Amino acid sequence: MKNTSKEQKGERMDEKHLFKFKCYPGVPCFTQCCRDVTIVLTPYDVLRLKKALGISSDKFLDDYTVIIPKEKRLIPMVALKMNEKDKNCPFVSEEGCAVYQDRPWPCRMYPLDMEDDGTFRIIATSSHCLGLKEEKESSIREWLVDQGIVPYEEMNALLSTVTTPLQAQDLDIENPDIEKMVFMALYNLDRFRDFIFKSTFLKRLDVPEERVSGIEKSDEELLKLGIDWVKFGLLGEKLFYVKNQSS
Ligand code: SF4
Ligand code: SF4
Repeated sequence: MKNTSKEQKGERMDEKHLFKFKCYPGVPCFTQCCRDVTIVLTPYDVLRLKKALGISSDKFLDDYTVIIPKEKRLIPMVALKMNEKDKNCPFVSEEGCAVYQDRPWPCRMYPLDMEDDGTFRIIATSSHCLGLKEEKESSIREWLVDQGIVPYEEMNALLSTVTTPLQAQDLDIENPDIEKMVFMALYNLDRFRDFIFKSTFLKRLDVPEERVSGIEKSDEELLKLGIDWVKFGLLGEKLFYVKNQSS
């Protein structure tokens, strides 16, 4: 395995690459990276954070995010809202991250970022991120697993089955109602659950009983259904049967 020096910011590395880094409460820059940053949230990030805070997805989106529409994209950018006054992340304190077990994907990755081709690069310098001067060494894969990245990778891979074709097809959809439904199915899961159980959704679509009971109990199962529903509605994938309305 190839070793990395401390100053290789920007170099592309694969997951077997050895990487020297350690972040811990005693490091002099502790929590400095939790200020004035753009942290883009995936649907799974929102799911984990709203559960950790014990609030609804609606309240989380209202109180903790900035939603930025993207031109010619159905799905907007959802970013964590920094405090207006001091630009700190709302979850940072002197003791560290208050939502550490459920921190978003970019926070788990830092000081790395992942490129579209699956390689990694260091996005910080060792003069700012002093953990890069530490001697603890592991492969990028070992380190990522230690950061709890696996369920995030699984959910992001599922999400990409929607986002990648949508980007490739350059769908010209300018219907705000469709945009709202897609956003709800991916990001606003508590509203989506209400929609499923309080609208004609289950009367119109044949969803197996085990799946219905799964989405009642599990936000993860609900998000998977949301992804399938968007693929069914927008990409024409035959993931649900439409019930015979006369029966
Ligand atoms: S700047 Fe780097 S070492 Fe310092 S707290 Fe952030 S991740 Fe850890
Ligand atoms: S969520 Fe936690 S780790 Fe991420 S920026 Fe906020 S305080 Fe830092």
